[in-house]
Order: sequence, then structure tokens, then C-alpha cells
Amino acid sequence: MSLDGGAGMAEENKAARKKIRATDLMNKIMSDYFYGLNEAATSGKQKVAWCTSVGPAELLRAMGFAVHFPENHAAILGATRMATDMIPVANAVGYSPEICSYLTSDIGAYLKGITPLSKAYPGIESIPKPDVLVFNTNQCRDVQDWFSWYARELDVPCIGITSPKSINEVTDAHITDVARQIEALIPTLEAIAGQKLDMERLRETVALSRECTELWKQVLETATATPAPLTFYDGTILMGPAVVLRGTRQAVDFYKALLAELEQRVTDGVGAVENETVRIYWDGMPVWGRLRPHSELFAGLNTTVLASTYCSSWIFPSFDGDDPIRSMAKAYLELFIVRSDSYKERYITSMLKKFRIDGIIYHDAKTCPCNSNSRYGMPQRLEEQTGIPGLVISGDLNDLRCVSDEQTKTNIEAFIEQLEEGK
Ligand code: SF4
Repeated sequence: MSLDGGAGMAEENKAARKKIRATDLMNKIMSDYFYGLNEAATSGKQKVAWCTSVGPAELLRAMGFAVHFPENHAAILGATRMATDMIPVANAVGYSPEICSYLTSDIGAYLKGITPLSKAYPGIESIPKPDVLVFNTNQCRDVQDWFSWYARELDVPCIGITSPKSINEVTDAHITDVARQIEALIPTLEAIAGQKLDMERLRETVALSRECTELWKQVLETATATPAPLTFYDGTILMGPAVVLRGTRQAVDFYKALLAELEQRVTDGVGAVENETVRIYWDGMPVWGRLRPHSELFAGLNTTVLASTYCSSWIFPSFDGDDPIRSMAKAYLELFIVRSDSYKERYITSMLKKFRIDGIIYHDAKTCPCNSNSRYGMPQRLEEQTGIPGLVISGDLNDLRCVSDEQTKTNIEAFIEQLEEGK
């Protein structure tokens, strides 16, 4: 993602932009979430499931599991710039530096007995020990490999959904396939949870996920205003509850408060970046360890990065409380990363229009090919079709050894200058 993270910790990302007041509320509910998970794992009163970012979190929550998202933990490792030192530890046990740096930094941190949660949330000593690991390969194979490592290490069951990929149109056959795979998880989960699935509770959970997703969409769409009231860098932090608290009332309440604040900014004509003159679409993963410098770089160029594939990937319009399992299957399949290039191009083209974008930046993340869309000619095709220029920057989500700060800065400055001249 990845669909992955949503670091949900605000410390990285303060300078050069106006503080969003709802961030305080977000910090509170994220803190409650992490302490709740810790309590579940240490007291044994609630079973703990680990879930991939667009795995069946609604099902797990409805069955009473406390849910931990390793990709969120890995994003926090990246945002706190701890990740790069953890990666070699996983490399030493056979996980290549070429594969997902979320995987390698998270496993490396586990092997070193370190978590950034300890510093942010005193009293939390480790990530919560799971009772079950549940993946969905809709984003990539790495998540299954990642969870399988923990399954062996901790002797915990690992179950999941194997999703089709590169889909142009999501058909009934695709949905039936994934819905059946979701149903097949239920007996194992019931045995671990020690209780039967309550369909009414699942309906309520899916309905809450739908409400959360609608609000998150409206939050992101406030950036259609000129000037945009929030940036991509705000979004990567503010999406934390949409990632880890999907299907809960807390997430819904938070996004209502955030939306009201951003709508007020739009009414007042307040932009996230002063003197916004250039509007950028970001495709691909954030560089978690560089959120702040990137945010400052663009703000200094009177440029707002205001829409992205990444933040928008947590919009799931198909969730439907009346048809929970099929609608979950459909929502998980409609994800951008699951789709064909021709779908992705149609989607990005519509985003360029909706947000009145001047240029696209594609992040080619070294260790995440699934979420790097610049490798098979897409920037050239999109520029030809839309007339909107693109720039590819090389980097990575978590492995800062793959990031050249000087080159990134020079290339972005030249690109923005080119866009200004073309206006
Ligand atoms: S490879 Fe990419 S999509 Fe897969 S888990 Fe890692 S960051 Fe996410």
C-alpha cells in the first residue's frame, strides 16, 4: 500500500504547515488503541489477531479480536527513522534487502526486541503477541511471507485469502471466489475466539467501516478546494484511524471532527501551504523517514501535494452492512493495487481532473514493486493522454539507504520550475 501504514503518529510532520487541531483527538484514540491492544495481549482477556492492511479486519473485529496491523507498525518504524537499522537483522536470517522493507524492518525489530511503541506509549514493552495471523495477498505476496515467518517463530496459526491480481473489472466470479475464502476462515477463527460469529455484529462492523470510509473520502476531497486545506503529508498521518480502527465508532467520530475542521478551513480560504501555486498528485508509497523534509521542500516551493493514490486507497465504497461478506470481498478486490494498469490509468486521470492537478510525482520505491507504478510506461502514457507532466523519483518507503536526498531535491525543484513556466 502499501497499503500499509498510516503511521498515525504526528511527531514527524509538524513544520511548514498549519497544525490541524483534530490531530490531538487522533493522538488520543491511537493511544487508546495501542494501550487496548497491549492490555488484550498481556492480560489474555481478549484474543489478538494480526491482520494485513486490507485483510478481513471487519470479520476479526466482529468476532471480538483485538486487531494489530504489522504494516502500521512498520510505517511507524519508518516514520521514526528506526527502520534502516533493523533491515540488516532480517537480511541476516535470509530475507533479502531487495524485498519489502516493511517486512524486513518489522522482523528485524522483532529480532532485536525493539518497538517504537515503547517510546511513544510508556508501559508498552513489545508488539502484542498474536493468537492468529490473517493475511490477504490483494496487495502483494510479501505479506504472506511476512506473516508466515511469525507463524513459525511464534507457533501461531496463519490463515488468509489468496487474491487475484491485475484485475481490470471486478466481476461476480472474483467476488464469489474471495467471499468463499472469507467464509472458509470463519470456523478456524471461531475455534480460536471460542465463540460463534454473530452475523448481526458483523453487519454493524461493516456498516461502521462504510461510514468511516465515506468520511475519509470527504476529508480527502476537501483538497479539491483551492487552496487545499490539507496535504498528502497530513493525510499519511491522519489516515491512522482509517487503517487500524476500521469498523469502530471511534474512527467515525474522529473523521466527523476532522471533516468539520477542514470544511471550515475551506470556507475561510485557509490553505495548508501558504501561497499555493502548484498542485501535485503523488503516486506510490510515502518515504516515511522523510515526511517532514519532503513536506517542507514542497511548501517552500509554494506547492501542495494534495492528492495521492496511497491515502485514497482507504476509500472502500462497496462496504455494505446488509451484505457483509460479499461486500467485504468486493471492497478488498476493488483496491487500486489489485487492478490492471488500464484501470489505474483511468483512475489517476479522473483524480487529476477532480483535484485540478498540475503535475504527478511517481515514487519508485525500491522494495515495493507492487506499489510503484512507473516501471511499465505509465508516466509516459498518462502524460500523452492528459498532457500533465510526471516526474519519477527513486527512493523507498522504509530503507533510507535507497533514498538520495540531494537528487530528490534537485529533481523536484527542477520539475516544479518546469510546471510554473508551463502555467
Ligand atoms: S511490498 Fe509494498 S505492498 Fe507489500 S507489504 Fe510491502 S510496502 Fe506493502
